[in-house]
Amino acid sequence: MASPTLNELPRVDRVLSHPALALAARALGHGLVTELVRLEIDAARREILAGERLVAPTENEIAEGVGRSASAIYSRRTRRVINATGILVHTNLGRAPLSEAARQAVVEASRGYGSLEMDLSTGKRGGRAGFAESAIRALAGAEEAFVVNNCAAAVLLVLATLASRGGSRHGGPGIIVSRGELIEIGGSFRVPSILEESGARLVEVGTTNRTHLADYEEAFERHPDIAGILRVHQGNFRMTGFVERPTVRELAELAKRRGVPLVKDLGGGALVELADLGEHQSSRGFAGEPTVAACVRQGADLVCFSGDKVLGGPQAGIIVGRRALVDRARKHPLARALRLGRLPLAALEATLASYLCGRIDEVPVLAMVRRPLDLVEARAERWCAVLVAAGADAHVVETESEMGGGALADRHISSRGVVIRDGSGPDALASRLRSGDPAIVARVVDGALVLDARTVLDGEDEVLLEGVVAALARAV
Ligand SMILES: *Cc1c(COP(=O)(O)O)cnc(C)c1O
Repeated sequence: MASPTLNELPRVDRVLSHPALALAARALGHGLVTELVRLEIDAARREILAGERLVAPTENEIAEGVGRSASAIYSRRTRRVINATGILVHTNLGRAPLSEAARQAVVEASRGYGSLEMDLSTGKRGGRAGFAESAIRALAGAEEAFVVNNCAAAVLLVLATLASRGGSRHGGPGIIVSRGELIEIGGSFRVPSILEESGARLVEVGTTNRTHLADYEEAFERHPDIAGILRVHQGNFRMTGFVERPTVRELAELAKRRGVPLVKDLGGGALVELADLGEHQSSRGFAGEPTVAACVRQGADLVCFSGDKVLGGPQAGIIVGRRALVDRARKHPLARALRLGRLPLAALEATLASYLCGRIDEVPVLAMVRRPLDLVEARAERWCAVLVAAGADAHVVETESEMGGGALADRHISSRGVVIRDGSGPDALASRLRSGDPAIVARVVDGALVLDARTVLDGEDEVLLEGVVAALARAV
């Protein structure tokens, strides 16, 4: 028999009509709020049964609890963020901001129907992404290109394509990877796992720090069913000291001799030589970072890279390389499951058009890399002056921006930022900045909150400063 306390639990319909929940119902809809009320009452019931609660909560208390969970859910919607972290391609913040042209293309494409897979000259079904693929071929100097949902998808599709031929009683055909390249890239992308999911069999060679060409040679002797060599770009970490691995050229030569393709998972994937981006000191640090075209020239048969890292476009994965191989990937059954959506495709087309016409400063990530240090410094000084005038404890500091997105680890770009101190401490201030609208994400370095002046977009200065002043005011 239910205890008297259980009988005193508020009824769902009574709580739902509580005025405190009117706003929640308008934002989230009646169905979801009803569900939250049920959950809140159920939780109270469990507490009573467990003896953790002696009196039933009032309608008011339940409504307050529901209000809190409703705002927690609502705040998880994707909101606009000002990126003052100094990390240009910040995976948690959606990686590359889009160019003006790319934004317009997305708006235009979302307005109505589009010629996504129709050849308008014939009215017949046409291939998706024809323009993007032509542009990438030209920019990468590759025979063929194919666009998918992201770079992880590109690598999976390429490996699955190679694995779809051959195999033995030991499993799928072997793909050779150096032990120094069995890496994890941000959370869930792990090279050995992707390889296993593709149906191929991992053939590890060498050691963590040193892999020789002879190790690859030997793998061909030991395993008669090798279907390819995978070379993974060490983009998000750097190994130094007693390290060695063959060059892409040497691997390409070996792969050719053995009649298998060399696949390069490049990740970042610059379409232009970053070190040559201009006279500005800021991009010099990127010397030696391979471009997609360089990988193709060095003999990689297939190269996979991201659309939203160094390229500066929307989330996308791009496969370039030999026509026969790319076409096999295009026809693989997985290709349909990994295809790029039409809105990112529109953004990718516009971004690539900027590259084709040599207008790379239209691409925000590249413009940020190229921005001369004296301009970044002048901006930090202006911010500082405004904040000090508003009563803040602020000063300009030297900082280091970075590319981020698992690309170009340890290649820092000199930058300037503003340190702000207040009585509440840097973490509390950072949290108040994140709760503003737009949210401001700063960096806490050596116990101080820093706003980096390189990654804040043009036109965001005033909103940033207003947000900072408001967050400082909320401390008291
Ligand atoms: C980032 C990265 C990936 C994954 O790319 P996504 O676009 O995030 O799917 C794969 N390989 C390498 C080497 C990377 O740097």
